[in-house]
Amino acid sequence: MELCIKHTLSKYAKRLHKVVRRLVPNCDVRFLLSESGSGKGAAMVTAVAYRLASQRKQIDEILASFKLSKENLREVKTKMRAELEYGLKKETQPNATVKMLPTYVCGTPDGTEKGKFLSLDLGGTNFRVLLVKIRSGRRKSVRMYNKIFAIPLEIMQGTGEELFDHIVQCIADFLEYMGIKGARLPLGFTFSFPCRQASIDKGTLVGWTKGFKATDCEGEDVVDMLREAIKRRNEFDLDIVAVVNDTVGTMMTCGYEDPNCEIGLIAGTGSNVCYMEDMKNIEVVEGNEGKMCINTEWGGFGDNGCIDNIRTKYDKEVDEGSLNPGKQRYEKMTSGMYLGEIVRQILIDLTKHGLLFRGQISETLRTRGIFETKFLSQIESDRLALLQVRRILQQLGLDSTCDDSIIVKEVCGAVSRRAAQLCGAGLAAVVEKKRENRGVEHLKITVGVDGTLYKLHPHFSRILREMVKELAPQCDVTFMLSEDGSGKGAALITAVAKRLHSIGEN
Ligand code: ADP
Ligand code: MG
Repeated sequence: MELCIKHTLSKYAKRLHKVVRRLVPNCDVRFLLSESGSGKGAAMVTAVAYRLASQRKQIDEILASFKLSKENLREVKTKMRAELEYGLKKETQPNATVKMLPTYVCGTPDGTEKGKFLSLDLGGTNFRVLLVKIRSGRRKSVRMYNKIFAIPLEIMQGTGEELFDHIVQCIADFLEYMGIKGARLPLGFTFSFPCRQASIDKGTLVGWTKGFKATDCEGEDVVDMLREAIKRRNEFDLDIVAVVNDTVGTMMTCGYEDPNCEIGLIAGTGSNVCYMEDMKNIEVVEGNEGKMCINTEWGGFGDNGCIDNIRTKYDKEVDEGSLNPGKQRYEKMTSGMYLGEIVRQILIDLTKHGLLFRGQISETLRTRGIFETKFLSQIESDRLALLQVRRILQQLGLDSTCDDSIIVKEVCGAVSRRAAQLCGAGLAAVVEKKRENRGVEHLKITVGVDGTLYKLHPHFSRILREMVKELAPQCDVTFMLSEDGSGKGAALITAVAKRLHSIGEN
């Protein structure tokens, strides 16, 4: 009798092990046999194993929606390529989601630029005012002095007049601080929002992005608004020479060191790219000679629904909870402002299904923005032990078990990996376009890059580069980190514009 039970149990146990291994191949599940458990114990083990396996299956299903196939990614590249063309053509431009804005930046620095310049950097996490001293010739160098100012939320989302008065107040503080209040310096205004330009010193705001929402600015010229605010204060005067997008500043900063740099990429709060396009392809600007930098504003890719097949319900939730629902769909899948929020949406769903945090949705987890993208970087760091992941979650007020930490790490990995792949697929479209423009079999090109997501995330930049290599195999792409593209780049653009202007006058 006794023998018979043992025999049945061991056969049962073997089958159980096999089932569990098949269902959860990535988990090393060990079985502890209870001496007194007998039939009841085995039934409990079975129940637990099945529960674990079914939980694992649910988690895998959720994460599978973030896994993009080679085919998906090739399709993203192809669609991006098509949208780039729509934005350049006169006929399709008005409805294009990738706006392809001409910047009137027609050349990269040649090393002869010199002088003292002011730069403003608005549109990132911080607002900065900078004094940039450029020297040419054998002692070619760029020296910068800058001050960071906070832009309170009530000003970001207040009236346009308040926003620009605040900016001018910050400039006044800076000039005072540097002891240069009397000097009428040329100024480059890095304004990292989509602007329709009619010349280098005119930029009409198309629409706010990235958390800004000041009233009475959309459709207005930002240079005029700045000039008027300076006039209202009536304390100093400035020569506003150029309005600059941060992508263009980044490209120009790297172009100062490497003449092969004809693309600028930002992966920070937002996601965007610019590149030097042949004038003959830019139908909305007169003239066929030479090149002009195009600010693609590719963050709006997908706003016509063309990538809805790869958007998940979490992406839709993030979009609906944002300041600009329906807009910047690609940016919302790829940039620092949103990745943490996507992770939070997944964590809420997993918790609802009882797969995380013991099924308890805490107040913390309900708080929008609580899961910042910098936590993805920390949690995904290979140097971090699981215990430390758990500590981060606990600091966030998320009471987690060790199993929870493993799952959260997987979620972060899935979200940031997809972001890097999507960004890489988009960039592959741009470098391929550059290759075809040049009419060459192989293209060697440098991309200037800025943005904390690219610079600090442990895997983002590698995955992005791998993706470009895979999807644009005929292009040999070098990635060059930009040192302060918004500050230095704006001064360089201002200097180049001044140089070209004085040539024009003579
Ligand atoms: P901006 O794009 O605003 O000019 P940054 O390039 O510094 O400025 O990007 C800031 C954004 O980067 C933040 O909004 C945040 O989402 C993200 N971020 C901050 N720290 C990290 C980090 N350690 N890892 C990844 N992303 C980060
Ligand atoms: Mg920036």
